[in-house]
Amino acid sequence: MPLTTCDLCGKKGARVRRVTRSYARGNAEFLIRGVPVVSCPHCGESYLTAETLREIERIKLHRHQLAVQQPIAVAQYSGTE
Ligand SMILES: [Zn+2]
Repeated sequence: MPLTTCDLCGKKGARVRRVTRSYARGNAEFLIRGVPVVSCPHCGESYLTAETLREIERIKLHRHQLAVQQPIAVAQYSGTE
């Protein structure tokens, strides 16, 4: 897992995880896979960098050209937490 410097506390050793994020527009849901999330063990924060947020905005704007339709299995979490 790649390590980076935390933007929030400035310490080294923050981890970058790749996650799938979902965005809703009306009834349509749209997924972006592989979004890098920085998690810092020192200050406990998780965040997206400004560059990542810009790229997500670009993908959302061009989603009709960039996204492919795929069938996806969806389960509803039914627990209380
Ligand atoms: Zn930190």
